[in-house]
Amino acid sequence: MVEEEKSLNFIEEIIEEDLRNGKNDGRVLTRFPPEPNGYLHIGHAKSICLNFALAQKYNGKTNLRFDDTNPVTEDVEYVDSIKKDIQWLGFQWAEELYTSDYFDTLYAYAVELIKKDLAYVDDSTAEEIAAAKGTPTEPGKPTPARSNSVEENLQLFEDMRAGKYPDGAKVLRAKIDLASPNMHMRDPIIYRIKHANHHRTGDKWCIYPMYDFAHGQSDSIEKITHSVCTLEFIPHRPLYDWLIDRLEIFPSKQYEFARLNLNYTVMSKRKLLQLVNEQFVEGWDDPRMPTISGLRRRGYTPASIRNFCERIGIQKRENMIDVSLLEFCIREDLNKTAWRRMAVLDPIKLIITNYPEGQVEELHGENNPEVEGGEGSRMIPFSKELWIERDDFMEDAPKKFFRLGPGLSVRLKHGYIVTCTDFKKDEHGNVTEVYCEYAPNSKSGEDTSGMKVKGTIHWVSVAHAKETEVRLYDRLFHDENPAAAEDFKSSINKDSLHIIEKAYIEPDLANAEIGKGYQFIRLGYFTPDNRASSAEKLVFNRTVTLKDSWAKEAKK
Ligand code: ATP
Ligand code: MG
Repeated sequence: MVEEEKSLNFIEEIIEEDLRNGKNDGRVLTRFPPEPNGYLHIGHAKSICLNFALAQKYNGKTNLRFDDTNPVTEDVEYVDSIKKDIQWLGFQWAEELYTSDYFDTLYAYAVELIKKDLAYVDDSTAEEIAAAKGTPTEPGKPTPARSNSVEENLQLFEDMRAGKYPDGAKVLRAKIDLASPNMHMRDPIIYRIKHANHHRTGDKWCIYPMYDFAHGQSDSIEKITHSVCTLEFIPHRPLYDWLIDRLEIFPSKQYEFARLNLNYTVMSKRKLLQLVNEQFVEGWDDPRMPTISGLRRRGYTPASIRNFCERIGIQKRENMIDVSLLEFCIREDLNKTAWRRMAVLDPIKLIITNYPEGQVEELHGENNPEVEGGEGSRMIPFSKELWIERDDFMEDAPKKFFRLGPGLSVRLKHGYIVTCTDFKKDEHGNVTEVYCEYAPNSKSGEDTSGMKVKGTIHWVSVAHAKETEVRLYDRLFHDENPAAAEDFKSSINKDSLHIIEKAYIEPDLANAEIGKGYQFIRLGYFTPDNRASSAEKLVFNRTVTLKDSWAKEAKK
């Protein structure tokens, strides 16, 4: 088969052009710059896959830079989780760096701007600064501080650093152009006072650089060649270039792509933090969260997430990706890799009246019918009493019901054909037991019965079954785009978690490994929960159903 040549994305085109022109001595260095103020989500995965894949493709490297310029919201818990998630996704950074390590250099850059009369200390209030900035159609006016002398500014900035002023009393602004049609160029604030303890620099600093000042300068310090960010930074690019140009430092370049938006969820860390703090979910790694840690706990594999990011590609325009594509990617992966097992989530008892009392047969089932050889098989005990799914039996079965009902026959997966002879109900009318007779010569693989049945159902031997808890998940929001609503929490789906406290699994599943996915035949893909499972009792999360039930709903 000839491999189809894939067309380049627009950033690859830029890089190839740069390489052709011998720019940066043929070097490609990208970076992933998370702010350690939350856990990574699937949107970050898109940026991670892009940055690391670009470097890999062009023999380059990718730095991990923690953009830790905001002391109040940041924490080492987040730093650790971010590192874990990136590695889990399958990427290794060249260097682990922190913007806070550059605070001395950034301070020196700021002093240099002041010396060039390109920055000034402004003591106007935030409101005064905003008012003097004008509007997009009206030029701004200078505040009195704009005419400070270089000497005054140097002294004031040093005093800011020395802690002489309270929070908000003064800011350092770049002196650019108050009439610029780009509001970001109207003397943007580049340093602010914040008397706060920083998770790495402690109390060394009481002034912190603003994002726009820290980001491009950090790129330049690291000699990043292609600094890739999301579209909302397009209007910041002139400032990015202006600062690098005026400071005469390494000319990193910024490129923008569309962020990932996924429907039926929210993707800003601030909103995700609210869900955690207000206990709508169990934590950042709740299996309903769009976080990497939540997806991992839910049973997503790194390959499925990388594949998803590859499929959506990168665009220059915002769009909304259907979460069913993400589900498709994990289904596709698990279909190829997950071992097949049997579990009964809503049990009723099936009794084979003509099966010898006390007899146990050891049946065998391939682990993975998708690969040749099946990756071996496991033993499944079969006996007179079995658990089957409640909805595999119907008292008044319609014509096309190919499962059990009075007089109907079905195959028990890997076992025999049974025919229903009778059933029993409790005082509420619920079926409690189903009685069947089996055909001893109908055993799977050696069937000489000549019987033809259309349906096969799964089962677990009552005497051998292990108990487990199973958690089924639905979307966390009813709205396709919850973030568009005034209050995104108004469309939270209150029934997004369904717990089955007592389900039965075949005995081999007691050895299920955390981090591995299993197909519960006919029910979906499941994985042991990495928090709630113990050696005594596993708890399973449903990763995804076997088929896209939402697509079916929509067609109705
Ligand atoms: P959030 O809005 O969720 O808080 P953020 O942009 O503030 O995200 P950062 O930690 O600053 O989060 O992001 C690190 C990198 O990940 C940035 O380069 C950012 O552009 C990128 N990124 C964040 N969200 C997305 C997304 N939804 N799609 C693609 N890239 C994203
Ligand atoms: Mg950010």
